[in-house]
Amino acid sequence: MTATLPISPDLVTLPRRPAEAGLPNVVGMGRAALRAALVEAGTPEAQATMRVAQVWQWLYHRGARDFMAMTNLARPYRELLAGRFRIARPEIVTRQVSADGTRKYLLRIDGGAEIETVYIPEADRGTLCVSSQVGCTLTCSFCHTGTQRLVRNLTAAEIVGQVMVARDDLEDWGRKPDEKRLVSNLVLMGMGEPLYNFEAVRDAMKICMDGEGIALSRRRITLSTSGVVPEIARVGAEIGCLLAISFHATTDAVRDVLVPINRKWPIGELLAACRAYPRLSNAERITFEYVMLKGVNDSDADARRLVRLIAGIPAKINLIPFNPWPGAPYERSDPERIEAFGAIVNRAGYASPVRTPRGEDIMAACGQLKSASERARRARPAAAAVAV
Ligand code: SAH
Ligand code: SF4
Repeated sequence: MTATLPISPDLVTLPRRPAEAGLPNVVGMGRAALRAALVEAGTPEAQATMRVAQVWQWLYHRGARDFMAMTNLARPYRELLAGRFRIARPEIVTRQVSADGTRKYLLRIDGGAEIETVYIPEADRGTLCVSSQVGCTLTCSFCHTGTQRLVRNLTAAEIVGQVMVARDDLEDWGRKPDEKRLVSNLVLMGMGEPLYNFEAVRDAMKICMDGEGIALSRRRITLSTSGVVPEIARVGAEIGCLLAISFHATTDAVRDVLVPINRKWPIGELLAACRAYPRLSNAERITFEYVMLKGVNDSDADARRLVRLIAGIPAKINLIPFNPWPGAPYERSDPERIEAFGAIVNRAGYASPVRTPRGEDIMAACGQLKSASERARRARPAAAAVAV
């Protein structure tokens, strides 16, 4: 049951100077692109490497939001940069804080579309759940995001921008290498299918992993995919982060319904791509996400099939009790069923943690994200009908 707990929505609208709006955004440029941009703006070639290092540090280590704050650059140079570029993150429309400390940000991006980003604090880590698209073109039948019609890919700036917004809000910038950070882990598990937006996701993750800036280790980043098989090898080669697979079913017949991309790349092909993923070991296991849907995929026979299917893959099975959303066609499995399922998986030698739903009171749990404007858009025709 979802408790209705008090929330504290803040309305935080960042001012945006109109003159700035058309300038190129330095956020999201890789080092090479930033260098080219600075040179193009008049930075002497001989100084370019040093200037990139300085600007990079301000942007991604200190979290500077204004060129004028970059005090180790001469004032005329700061003014030059401020006249040529902007430092832009997505705008916070609302920030909701759950009773359990989870924070959900509704962010507006260029063009007016909205995305959601969720911060989940835990005792030993703080995980930011990042979106890769507005909505999702896939239509997994248990996922709220999959019902959103408005879809576009996010840019690298908008992906790394989500990390920057959370760091701003949590005052998490400028930490020393050995100091505890509030955003210590990233999961690409928000809205969207990250492997349908591979280049932007990769470029953003490269910025997040850069040791002179946000400096997150590749082992603290997990990319979740519904199973875009041809792109999985590229994740290993070009990003190197950990992999999570939205598995959710143990037969093609059931997976075809739950995760329709299965019709294109069925279980056999998906698992072959997992087996070929580089650096697999106990320290770098694949996470198989498995949503527990009452009477659909949660039997003992499913659990036994699951462990047979993944035999030989260093893995952990993340059991996710289904998170309901308005109109969802499924129910969450009973706790005893989840426990029995987990016990079978566990006896086969796989860790099978049950993911505690976080931020349920603010609709921030897995699969519940869908931008408020989309919800409102759907509600609007009904309201109009009443008015007439
Ligand atoms: N598109 C990517 C990443 C985002 S979804 C993917 O599908 O992997 C993050 C996880 O939440 C996925 O495993 C997804 O299947 C799961 N999920 C989606 N809707 C859910 C719901 N209503 N309840 C529980 N988990 C859900
Ligand atoms: Fe898209 Fe992932 Fe939701 Fe499927 S589960 S509709 S791939 S966001």
